[in-house]
Amino acid sequence: MALIVQKYGGTSVGSLERITNVARKVIQHRGQGHDVVVVVSAMSGETDRLLRLAKEIDPHPNEREVDVLLSTGEQVTIALLAITLNKLGCPARSYTGAQVRILTDDAHTKARILDIDEERVRRDLNEGKVVIVAGFQGVDANGNITTLGRGGSDTTGVALAAALKADECQIYTDVDGVYSTDPRVVPNARRLDRITFEEMLEMASLGSKVLQIRSVEFAGKYSVPLRVLSSLVEGPGTLITYEDAQMEQPLISGIAFNRDEAKLTIVGVPDQPGVAYRILGPIGEANIEVDMIVQNVGADGTTDFTFTVHRNDFDKAMGILKNISNTLKAREVKGDNKIVKVSLVGVGMRSHAGIASKMFRALADHGINIQMISTSEIKISVVVDEKYLELGVRALHDSFGLEQKPEVAR
Ligand code: ASP
Ligand code: MG
Repeated sequence: MALIVQKYGGTSVGSLERITNVARKVIQHRGQGHDVVVVVSAMSGETDRLLRLAKEIDPHPNEREVDVLLSTGEQVTIALLAITLNKLGCPARSYTGAQVRILTDDAHTKARILDIDEERVRRDLNEGKVVIVAGFQGVDANGNITTLGRGGSDTTGVALAAALKADECQIYTDVDGVYSTDPRVVPNARRLDRITFEEMLEMASLGSKVLQIRSVEFAGKYSVPLRVLSSLVEGPGTLITYEDAQMEQPLISGIAFNRDEAKLTIVGVPDQPGVAYRILGPIGEANIEVDMIVQNVGADGTTDFTFTVHRNDFDKAMGILKNISNTLKAREVKGDNKIVKVSLVGVGMRSHAGIASKMFRALADHGINIQMISTSEIKISVVVDEKYLELGVRALHDSFGLEQKPEVAR
């Protein structure tokens, strides 16, 4: 017998029919002798609808009140699921985040979980009940309702699983697992049987939107085995787990990409201490997140400095850079907001040479110019013109044979 935490996203509880479908799944797992704790999101579209209402009144609504408002979405679904389960003869009880006591800090609309009092949940489980907990919400030390940021129900599920030392946290969603890349770009992309937390974090932060990043960090930190699977079709999904020394690791697990990038270059700045700081300091102060940074080798006492930002921040960053360029007496400021980032991710890279050259060759064979390169232990990213995104991702997927069972690092 195992203790399983199951999280169902908005589409999985988007109608009474779907809620009944969830109830059947829960009953099926209970029938196999497992204890089940269920975390649910609001019905699909509900959080957006509520947010729109608030913004109709005030474009910058008071954040404490936004949390009071948004938390109602999940309160509806926990109750509807409990009513359904009870009707089907399966004893169940629902709790809001505050009732469980999911204690968070007081950062409204993006609170972090500090502690979970799992007593109440355990008592109900011991009495043979299914426990249903509202995702995405908690309560601060002063009793104010908080929410965990968009997509936060994933984090509730993982945090509860960690607190209860559950055997597995199952995230049910509208896709049947994590894929080698986005199947909308590469139709023969393959569902991965497993992927490590580290790889999943890279995939998630590089723009693959299956799970809230924070939930993956949490799962990695507390070693909660996480499984992504579909609530609509049967299947094993994808297991996200720690790296097992006994297991052979695939060389490349997946390809992530991000379309929202922009690139800025300041040409001919003095090659002196403090220059990088004088460029990036004001960018940071303006709350613009910088992703890749490249500084050229200096020649004749000057150098070029290039970095990437989110496309939404492009105009703002260009404005700042033009100011800096005057004080630094730079030769020129250039910008390009039609670029994308494509990344290969795989823990097997650690122990294997030649991945980068194979990647660059595949891109070259397709006439794709690489504008920037950055690497970490388990990923290689390149910046290319946005018109090459699909071609580039397909070329890499093909040349690394990702549509087949993975090649392993030895
Ligand atoms: N309902 C919240 C949202 O739409 C939380 C979640 O679904 O995870 O962001
Ligand atoms: Mg979600």
